[in-house]
Amino acid sequence: MAEPVDWRADGIPRSARFDDIYHSESGAPAQARHVFLGGCGLPAAWAGQAQWRILETGFGFGLNFLTAWHAWREDPQRPRLLHFVSIEAFPVSREDLLRAAGAYPDLLPLAEMLAAQWHGLLPGFHRLGFAGGQVLLTLCIGDVQPMLRAQRFEADAIFLDGFSPQRNPAMWSADTLKAVSRFARRGTRIATWTIARSVCDALAQSGFRLTRSPGLPPKRDCLQGLFEPAWEPRRRGPAAPPPATPGRCAVIGAGLAGAAVAASLARRGWQVRVLDAAQRPASGASSLPAGMLAPHVSPDDALLSRLTRAGIRLTWQQLEALLAEGVDWRASGVLERRAAGDARLPSGWSESGPNESWRAGEARLRAAGLPADTLALWHARAGWVRPARLVEAWLAQPGVLVETGCRVARIEARGEPAAGWALRDAGNRLLAEADRVVIAAGFESGALAPAYPLQPVRGQVEWGRMADTQRLPEAPVNGDGHLIAGVPGADGRLWLAGATFDRDSTDAAPRAADTAFNRERLARLLPEAAAQLDAAFASGATGTWTGVRCASADRRPLVGPLSAGSADGIWLCTALGSRGLSFATLCAELLAAQWHAEPLPLPIKLAQALDARRATEPGSASAM
Ligand code: SAM
Repeated sequence: MAEPVDWRADGIPRSARFDDIYHSESGAPAQARHVFLGGCGLPAAWAGQAQWRILETGFGFGLNFLTAWHAWREDPQRPRLLHFVSIEAFPVSREDLLRAAGAYPDLLPLAEMLAAQWHGLLPGFHRLGFAGGQVLLTLCIGDVQPMLRAQRFEADAIFLDGFSPQRNPAMWSADTLKAVSRFARRGTRIATWTIARSVCDALAQSGFRLTRSPGLPPKRDCLQGLFEPAWEPRRRGPAAPPPATPGRCAVIGAGLAGAAVAASLARRGWQVRVLDAAQRPASGASSLPAGMLAPHVSPDDALLSRLTRAGIRLTWQQLEALLAEGVDWRASGVLERRAAGDARLPSGWSESGPNESWRAGEARLRAAGLPADTLALWHARAGWVRPARLVEAWLAQPGVLVETGCRVARIEARGEPAAGWALRDAGNRLLAEADRVVIAAGFESGALAPAYPLQPVRGQVEWGRMADTQRLPEAPVNGDGHLIAGVPGADGRLWLAGATFDRDSTDAAPRAADTAFNRERLARLLPEAAAQLDAAFASGATGTWTGVRCASADRRPLVGPLSAGSADGIWLCTALGSRGLSFATLCAELLAAQWHAEPLPLPIKLAQALDARRATEPGSASAM
């Protein structure tokens, strides 16, 4: 349930929970500009910087965020990337978000873009992207202290915007402010509208040098601070490597993983060369004609469930920005049949909640030709995607160059300490030189990363053209096997049914036994649809696709330095398994965030669950 808002007659939103108003009577943008942006020296302070990272306590209606985004947009000297990380325990509804912004015509178009991504706000982190990925909002939904503990980055500016300290003490306690100060580097500026004694004392004790200046009426004062502790601040965990300066990067592999990494790095100013042994991009597992994009759901909201949700949100933004809906992907929703007794949802989830998966109703089941008592979930934010189209769109981003037909056999350091890397083929031909390298070559990554236990997993899918008379389900159906129908092809619409999951096999040849297996599963999953496809199978009018994915031992992706000694050199981004569409963008953004000491798109624990170091150095992922 969204937080209810009490709209006063003068249009100012008020919280009944905290018995306080959300912003000053002078208007939120005026307060944002005067107290928060002005208090942190913005926009002047970010001029010419590569990135600017703002941390805020209390997202509310996001008016500080929208004002900062607006100022960024108007500023010719703006940084390439604006990160805004905000913590909010009680998110308001989309309608209230728009109503609040409705009073400010300058902000309304931005608020509409924010509202379009304002969904699925379950507790946890949600990365929202705007302006082609140059404005990144990380919403941390939960109580302020645990959320601060789950995030880590160096903030350039900090906005403290809880309700008043008397009414909302949790946002201003000494512990909270100490946790906030852990995000500060020397020179970080902090701003707030309160000059409450306890707040000033806690900030001063945490290392901020404070000044007061005139407030925005009716407030007399507001507060600014500069982080300048008289001591050397202690960091949690081991020191992170210094942030990378964008230079030249070579990415090995032009499938989903490599293309996503290339696009994420190019957005940050890297010149990226993507090398692939095949004659064209997306030749491996990413050549699947259409794949399903749907979250994993479990009653205890397990790690994999949270990871796929975070990943799909990021992929979805890319799909909306880069591909034609209905042609290259479809936001159809996905029906998932569950085994008996296995349709429990995490507690608190309901059809009206922020969760976007729930028990499928009769109409959805009927549309798939299934009886009304079938146990199934409906995933509203799900659908199918043509992976090769997404790869193509990523590789077409400015700053990305693709070279096919190059098989990298060796990566050599150029001098000591490593002044970059030379990539050579088996005949010692120089393929590329780069400051950093990312290995994202699926199971073939193993040749360059022998320390990693990577497993090839062969998959086979059957496909065919849909006859006009066929009535196959409009939305993909998943379960034990899956069916995707209505995918536009060169001559007519296609259906696909699969997929097998054969560990340790790299055999590209179609197997009749697998075709029979896929058919049998389809007959169990969707008897009506299977019956309609019988004739096509019997007459040999179907096709077979095979591909080899790459999996780690625990089936989670691997993102991290190739070895402890190469943290600023060679990285691995692979093992997306059969969830490449869910994980590619997330892994790429995680890698980019780690290279640039940016805010994490995931809570630390989830980011650690993807850290490649878990596979070779048990226990070391906690160093992240
Ligand atoms: N910055 C907001 C804007 O631009 O619209 C206004 C923020 S409002 C003054 C304070 C926000 O802090 C509210 O949205 C409230 O729900 C949130 N909040 C209060 N206590 C919290 C807590 N313990 N943890 C996280 N958020 C909290």
